[in-house]
Amino acid sequence: MEIPFFSFDKRNQDVREESIKAFEKFFDSKWYVLGNNTSEFEQNFARFNQVQHAIGVSSGLDALHLSLLALGIGKGDEVIVPSNTYIASVLSISFTGATPVFVEPRYETANLNPELIKAAITSKTKAIMPVHLYGQACEMDAIMAIAKEHGLYVVEDNAQSQGALHNGRITGSFGDINATSFYPTKNLGALGEAGAITTNSESLAQAVKSLRNYGSSERYYNEVKGYNNRIDEFEAAYLNIALNHLNSWNEERSFLAAEYQKRLKDVKRVELFECAPGSTSVNHLYVVKASNRDALRKELADKGIGTQIHYPVPPHLQKAYSELGFKAGYLKIAEKLSQEVISLPLWLGMEVKMIDEVCRVIESSKS
Ligand SMILES: *Cc1c(COP(=O)(O)O)cnc(C)c1O
Repeated sequence: MEIPFFSFDKRNQDVREESIKAFEKFFDSKWYVLGNNTSEFEQNFARFNQVQHAIGVSSGLDALHLSLLALGIGKGDEVIVPSNTYIASVLSISFTGATPVFVEPRYETANLNPELIKAAITSKTKAIMPVHLYGQACEMDAIMAIAKEHGLYVVEDNAQSQGALHNGRITGSFGDINATSFYPTKNLGALGEAGAITTNSESLAQAVKSLRNYGSSERYYNEVKGYNNRIDEFEAAYLNIALNHLNSWNEERSFLAAEYQKRLKDVKRVELFECAPGSTSVNHLYVVKASNRDALRKELADKGIGTQIHYPVPPHLQKAYSELGFKAGYLKIAEKLSQEVISLPLWLGMEVKMIDEVCRVIESSKS
């Protein structure tokens, strides 16, 4: 049985007719940037995310970058970020001129360990950027309490966790200003590049609306040096449709993840991640830990099963960050995770017999 790592088939089928209708309407509207589709999506996404404002932008990376800029973060500042995140979180900090300060995750959850944050705070620290990795909500109550105590901003990287909860509250609604991505494979994926910022602050919302549009709130008047980070009308039109399916898509992912969990919880070959107490997951990815991971990956590939590694090299060991002077062994948990994690297939429309097969191969693994 060929089991791909990912498939768009069911998602596309779910929204095909509505999307093609919306595309015709968009095409004939002759309004392609910052129009009604965008404002409608921004209202709908703000409601979904239980915040006052959502602002559509061109990608998740741009959403993070503009969020930091709106807070006034720049050269000479430090931003705390988990050591095992995707490179985009770290790049967004670098783009402002600020320095990323890595804090290790918990080995059990793969998410930022709040107990280690205090030791990383200096007089230059301006913000904490928790990343809800793999779809699991971070320990936001603990993180918000530390931020409050030390007068720091919080910017959530909510790219992988649209709809996840911590103590009943949705991710992307905790921080001062938060970013998410609609990269096609995300839980709410667009048909190309898009992202959004969520905030309850009117002034931060106005600031990012200006920053995404050349630093202009009034046409041809530029109050700051901004960017072209606008969302496309076409993507907003599509996202308005997809958003109506997000809860049921997340439920399907949870069902599939639970099927994996049932079969793998007692299998010695792999160790499962845990959600933090009070946190839920929207199962963006189904990731497990395995020593001798590369051999297991090969065994799965030999049986036609696709897997991925999220992520094989932690940011501090990337060539792009050699300037920070980190060596292997400096951030042990991120490095250990990078060697042990393997993401198993999980996609809308996946059949339980496929999960049976993946788990059977893992259970009988020789490596
Ligand atoms: C996908 C992702 C991003 C970046 O989003 P893009 O839309 O690809 O720019 C940022 N952070 C995390 C954790 C992501 O998974």
